[in-house]
Amino acid sequence: MIKRSEYERVQEQAAAAIRAAGIQLTAAEAARIEVVDFGLSHVAVEGVQVFTMFATERISAKVLVMLPHQTEPEHWHPPVGGDPGKEETIRVIAGTLLFFIPGPDTMREGWVPAGKAGCYSCRHEIVLKPCDQLTLPPGTKHWFQARDGGAVFYSFSTCVRDGLDRFTDPAIVRQTVISEDDEVEAGAR
Ligand code: ZN
Repeated sequence: MIKRSEYERVQEQAAAAIRAAGIQLTAAEAARIEVVDFGLSHVAVEGVQVFTMFATERISAKVLVMLPHQTEPEHWHPPVGGDPGKEETIRVIAGTLLFFIPGPDTMREGWVPAGKAGCYSCRHEIVLKPCDQLTLPPGTKHWFQARDGGAVFYSFSTCVRDGLDRFTDPAIVRQTVISEDDEVEAGAR
């Protein structure tokens, strides 16, 4: 759950980061940026911002924004019917992105969010800087995190079925619920 005012503030931060990275964005597009809190209600700690440029039945292109020190929870894209699951290539545009996949523990710069050790099993750290890219085969567990300045990166993938993504953290709900600020204030009175 995220308050409308916080949703809009994070959305503006994400739009500013995208523009600072040199990518043009109309006002209407900036208003379409999705702020995802994974139902964990602490978007600055675990969350992601997504601008979908397009998503057809077969391919999609997005710009993802991570706020400074924000972590996208560990997840994988499972097979669906005859499809092996989403294959994804990411390419960093700005900032430093720490990417974690299965493999030997090389974690140096990253950290697991407090109290969440059981929800992040991958400890193989890959440090991605602008122009670095990585292709993730379908079904591979992964999570990622931004350093101090945040990160902006492209995500190109096969058909997106975000609703089917699996997360290690059982508390996660993929759909972000926005609460109106007046409701919260009314409740506080
Ligand atoms: Zn993913």
